[in-house]
Amino acid sequence: MSERILIAVAWPYANGPLHMGHIAGAYLPADIFARYHRTKGNEVLMVSGSDQHGTPITIRAEQEGKKPGEIVARYHQQFLDSWQKLGISFDLFTTTGTANHAEVAQDIFLTLLNKGYIYKSTMSQPFCPQCQRFLPDRYVVGTCPYCHSPKARGDQCDVCSKPLSPAELIDPCCRQCGTTPQLRDSEHFFLKLTAFEDRLSDWVKEQEQWRPNVFMLTQRYLKEGLRDRAITRDINWGVPLPVDGFEDKRLYVWFEAVIGYLSASKEWAKSRGDDEKWRSFWQGEAKGYYFIGKDNIPFHTLIWPAMLMGYSDLNLPYDVPANEFLTIEGRKLSTSQDWAVWLPDYLLRYDPDPLRYLLSINMPETGDTDFSWREFIRRNNDELVATYGNLVNRVLTFTYRNFDGCVPQTGEFDSQSQALLKKTEDTLNTMDGLLYRCHFREAIRSAMSLAQETNRYLDEKAPWKAIKEDRQATATALYVSISVLSCLRTVLYPFLPFSSQKLHEFLGFEGNVEADGWKLHPLSPGQKLLSPQPLFAKLDKALVEEESSRLGHIHYD
Ligand SMILES: [Zn+2]
Ligand SMILES: [Zn+2]
Repeated sequence: MSERILIAVAWPYANGPLHMGHIAGAYLPADIFARYHRTKGNEVLMVSGSDQHGTPITIRAEQEGKKPGEIVARYHQQFLDSWQKLGISFDLFTTTGTANHAEVAQDIFLTLLNKGYIYKSTMSQPFCPQCQRFLPDRYVVGTCPYCHSPKARGDQCDVCSKPLSPAELIDPCCRQCGTTPQLRDSEHFFLKLTAFEDRLSDWVKEQEQWRPNVFMLTQRYLKEGLRDRAITRDINWGVPLPVDGFEDKRLYVWFEAVIGYLSASKEWAKSRGDDEKWRSFWQGEAKGYYFIGKDNIPFHTLIWPAMLMGYSDLNLPYDVPANEFLTIEGRKLSTSQDWAVWLPDYLLRYDPDPLRYLLSINMPETGDTDFSWREFIRRNNDELVATYGNLVNRVLTFTYRNFDGCVPQTGEFDSQSQALLKKTEDTLNTMDGLLYRCHFREAIRSAMSLAQETNRYLDEKAPWKAIKEDRQATATALYVSISVLSCLRTVLYPFLPFSSQKLHEFLGFEGNVEADGWKLHPLSPGQKLLSPQPLFAKLDKALVEEESSRLGHIHYD
């Protein structure tokens, strides 16, 4: 029976371009997972969108002397373009700027308010006497009270990833003018997280499928105790409050953006002309997977589940396979210092699959991993080109030339051939299990190990020599090798969709890889092959220096 899988992916702030950290952290693993499940024949809904609200946007707009709407429109378009080129296959990538999203967010707000899970209270808010305005969290900077990092923002510390409030900062000052803010009273709404503490504790304990890092961080927050959190802000850019007397305030972006997973699902259903279709991914047997970076864990394992518990009737997250961070050339990624590799920039010069390959085989699943240009070029040349690409090329070129461009008629399999075919079947099954449990790195490694094994098999069978003495044995060795390639096109498809589709066509299959399912298709002797072309291009080692020298030059923040 087919499963229903909701793939909810982090909403990028539309205030700057995407970089490798975003891709390795959330978008690539989500896409691999979506393609795997679609190939399995499961129903998948993969949604996300641009986060258009909040102070990251207004800060950027002020810096550029533009309206927030101009900034978000520019980056939303750029995101869509990047997804298409990198092959990130969203069913819907929308924005938080839609009327639908505002409606869904306001409905959740009102429901929680009516049930007593949201209450009104006065809080002292930092007010800048120089700028004459209340300062939203990100507009206050200072020293982190937990790790004493000097550049913590009033919403979160990027060093120890603790969520913060501006009042907790040591030596706070206004981001715009450096003045020490005063505290003034302002009326706001609060989410009563404390009301969910016991239910969350019981629920979290049962989530054995979570990764240890996700599970432990969540337990740590629970042990420290949850606090009620303000969900509105003194700002005029965002979703308005559905209550009178709060015209100058907006829903706080963290409260509103997580609702995007639900509003996007509803928008997707409407766009298909079946308004209630979203329910099949949010209720009953459906499983929700949330792909996010580790800095977002508590929002998805505690706060969003609390909101869903309060709202009721909707499924809680099934898994939150949050990745750790990607460092760049051994240093922590920093957008403000341009210590980042920007995706639009990469896509101008290179194909998508080599990047997808590197970030998959080196995915920061259980600890931070590093991106370096040297490693990118090495993996491309030694692994994609020399191991996998070369295998495809020599098998198909030789077969094409010597067997009339068709899959040859096989003879009896010797023990070596049987062993390789057994490994092929095992790889398909092992990868199935690994992908199902979101172990992406291990999964692609087993595909590459099959490719290596097949290269060794070919070296021993040496069809280019054997063909003169024993045409039937050669035909069998090629038949076996082509069977492996047919398996590789399937199991590598979630990771390398572009080259897998090409291989699919070289092998003489029609339609797309996905439609053929997660299984081995016995090859029919006589199946017409296409004249093969190289799947990947070798990259010049001189690019290492050229690319590395681009790092650290442009300032985006
Ligand atoms: Zn100021
Ligand atoms: Zn800190």
